Amino acid sequence: MRGRIDVGLLGATGIVGTWLARMLRDHPWFRLAEVGASPASEGRSYGEVAALSSLPGGAEIPDEILALELKAPTDEWSSPLLLCALPSREAGRVEEELAGRGHVVVSNAASHRMDADVPLIIPEVNPGHLALVERQQERWPGMLITNPNCSVVGLALALAPLHRAFGLRMVTVATLQALSGAGRPGPSAGDMLDNVLPHIAGEEEKLAREPQKILGELQERTIQPAAFPVSAQTHRVPVTHGHLLAVSAKLDVPANPDEVVEAFAGFRGAVRDERLPSAPVRPIDVVDGEARPQPRLDRDRGDGMTVAVGRVRRCETLDVKFTVLVHNLVRGAAGAALLNAELCHVSGYSPKAGRR
Ligand code: NAP
Repeated sequence: MRGRIDVGLLGATGIVGTWLARMLRDHPWFRLAEVGASPASEGRSYGEVAALSSLPGGAEIPDEILALELKAPTDEWSSPLLLCALPSREAGRVEEELAGRGHVVVSNAASHRMDADVPLIIPEVNPGHLALVERQQERWPGMLITNPNCSVVGLALALAPLHRAFGLRMVTVATLQALSGAGRPGPSAGDMLDNVLPHIAGEEEKLAREPQKILGELQERTIQPAAFPVSAQTHRVPVTHGHLLAVSAKLDVPANPDEVVEAFAGFRGAVRDERLPSAPVRPIDVVDGEARPQPRLDRDRGDGMTVAVGRVRRCETLDVKFTVLVHNLVRGAAGAALLNAELCHVSGYSPKAGRR
């Protein structure tokens, strides 16, 4: 695997960062070369601070990575490509500074997702929006690309084939979100055992506005957001990984559940699978069974990159309702960022050159 592009990972010790480090282990194009965390961890070794217990198989990160010394976000980074898994409150300022220094920054954080010149990308859905980075030339020599909120990835992937085939008039969604979505340390065991928290700060707002940007049209270097409203309710539940979404949709062109299942099953996405190493063969799996999908049974489909959809049926108030499951740490975060970095690379926005 010679000739790989060096990658720096900010927020490397957090839950998303640790999963990214694991996914980069055998990556054919990218090599994890630098890791960073908070100023409090600066100078310590990666293995000392990383959230290794969040990985299902324990320590799956090579010794030479575990031995890397942690940097602070604003240190010098020599890698052309930087993957960012910082908390949003830090990411906003840091990402601007690093794009200003000419890096290609691929971010998990919410800070810049809704900026008019920042692409919010799911490669199978809206790869063309990547062209928005041309507008960033007015801001900085580097570029900044974002992936959606972890629940939004599942929702937008499921809505994409319906939007394309029937049009969407309105959507309601209630989420049951896993503990790992809250980062470290997350809610206390005392709050979560035998309990559900019916509020996740900022999450309903993201579900209400990110899908329309993703499913919007790029016209004259501006995204015209899709018009359908989303009404969201979010809940934290005692599940380790995997966000479940109960979705109802009203369609522009009425369709029965069989036609909706057909649209899900036929969806392959806009990018050719073989070109992007982290792309699953199928972005959406339709799962059979009255009580599917379930986090424990279905979150690892497509190595965590496939969204599972089930229980497609007629809705008594809107047109159709169904259940979606997304692995919040893979398709919802680490895998989403990696896939975006790969899309950037094959689209000619090479991290080596910065711009094509
Ligand atoms: P996390 O577990 O809390 O990790 C946060 C990381 O940021 C750690 O590496 C931490 O370093 C570092 N950090 C904290 N404060 C910092 C500061 N002041 N300056 C620099 N670095 C600092 O969070 P996470 O769940 O991995 O989430 C990371 C980002 O991804 C967030 O923006 C989150 O919203 C987004 N995201 C998360 C998920 C998910 O399912 N978890 C899904 C999608 C998107 P130390 O170890 O030194 O504290």
